[in-house]
Amino acid sequence: MPWYENGLQFECTRCGKCCRGEPGYVWVNDAEIARLAQKLGYTPFEFEALFVRTVRGRMKSLVELDGGDCILCADDTAGCRVYGERPAQCRTWPFWRRNIESEKAWKKVARFCRGCNRGRLYSVEEIERAAAEIEID
Ligand code: SF4
Ligand code: SF4
Repeated sequence: MPWYENGLQFECTRCGKCCRGEPGYVWVNDAEIARLAQKLGYTPFEFEALFVRTVRGRMKSLVELDGGDCILCADDTAGCRVYGERPAQCRTWPFWRRNIESEKAWKKVARFCRGCNRGRLYSVEEIERAAAEIEID
């Protein structure tokens, strides 16, 4: 069994810290683009033109504003404008493979994300499902 055999707690506080500041990528596929476009009232083509950038010639990531904030951050501190429809990369956080590979890695994540180790207890199966859903560079 993995070191987190008894599960891990996580409950997002919507602090927005993981969506702001540090530069990075938020990968989106065509199905996610279509969902996000519908949520915000755009066609997929319009949404892509406004909110998506191409990386390494073929991969798609949400646009980053100056300073590194994700373009889908709400203007206030409320977090994500599309929370219910957020991309898999955001939805599966913090249970990315690299974050759960060791207790040390998890503790490091928990220092950054105050939602870790509080709230809902996720089972090993749920954690594994999330980790398997997406591979993050
Ligand atoms: S840093 Fe953690 S608690 Fe804050 S918005 Fe991101 S996932 Fe939620
Ligand atoms: S899509 Fe939403 S949850 Fe994901 S990084 Fe952007 S603002 Fe944060």
